[in-house]
Amino acid sequence: MEQILYQLKMIRLSGMANGLPIRIQEAQANDLSYLDFLANLLKDELLKRQERLLNRRLKSAKLPELKTLDTFDFSFNPAIRKKTIMDLSACRFIQNNEPVILLGPPGVGKTHLAIGLAIAAVEKGFTVIYRSIFDLAEELAEAAALGQRKQMIHDLVKPDLLVIDEFGMRNLAPSAAEDLLEIIHRRYRRGSTLIATNRPLEDWGKLLGDNAATSAILDRMMHTVHMIMITGRSYRLKHADEKEQKELDNESKKE
Ligand code: ADP
Ligand code: MG
Repeated sequence: MEQILYQLKMIRLSGMANGLPIRIQEAQANDLSYLDFLANLLKDELLKRQERLLNRRLKSAKLPELKTLDTFDFSFNPAIRKKTIMDLSACRFIQNNEPVILLGPPGVGKTHLAIGLAIAAVEKGFTVIYRSIFDLAEELAEAAALGQRKQMIHDLVKPDLLVIDEFGMRNLAPSAAEDLLEIIHRRYRRGSTLIATNRPLEDWGKLLGDNAATSAILDRMMHTVHMIMITGRSYRLKHADEKEQKELDNESKKE
C-alpha cells in the first residue's frame, strides 16, 4: 500500500492516493468487484480535480469577498426579485453573451449580487474576472504606462464573464475610458459583461466619453441587456433600523 500511495503521488493522482485506504476498506466490506473499486477510486480523483479547477478559477476571478446568493436576504428589499436573480444564476445570459446591469443606490446589495452571480458562474465552469472600477482604472493606466495596453485589453476581453463593479464611482482618465469602451465593444456578442453602478444610463456617455462611438456601443448593448433596477434602503441601515425599532418598542412598554 505504501508503495502504491507513493506511486500515485508521483504521477500526481493525489485524489486517488487520498481515497485509496477508504476505498479498499469499502471494497472489502461490501465485496465490490474490481471494476466498482476502480470506478470509485477514479471518482475520488475526478472530484479532487474539479475542486482544484474551481478553486483556481475562483482565485483568478479575484473576487474581493466570497459572498454567495444563498446568504442574500431577498425579503429585505422587494425591488430585488428573487426569481430574476435565480434565473440569472443559471448563467444562460453568459451562454448568450448578454450583458447585465445592476443599477441602484449604495448599500442595496449590488456588489453582493455581482459576487454571488460570479461564483455561480465559476461553479458552472465559466471563467470570470471581477474588477472594481478603481482597480480597473489603475490597471489600465499602469498597462498604458508600461506599453502593455494591448495585452491588458486582451486579458479583459477573454473571460466568459467580466464583472465591473462600482462603475461611476470614479471618473476615468480619457484614455482609460477609451480602453473600457473598447473592452465593452470587443466583448459584445463574444462574452458577457456585468456592470454594477449607482449612475443612471444617461450619465454613462459622460463616464465613457461623450461621443458617437460611445452612444453607438451603449445603444447596441441595450438591445440584449438584463436590467436590474434596484431602489430602496441601504442594507447597512438595517441593523440601525432594527435597533431604533427595539428602542421604540422598549419606550412604549415603559409607558
Ligand atoms: P452596494 O454594492 O449596492 O453598495 P453591497 O452589496 O456592498 O451594496 O451591500 C452592503 C452590505 O450589505 C454588504 O455587506 C452586503 O453583503 C450586505 N447586503 C446588502 N443587501 C443584502 C441583503 N438583501 N441580504 C443580505 N446582505 C445584504
Ligand atoms: Mg458595491
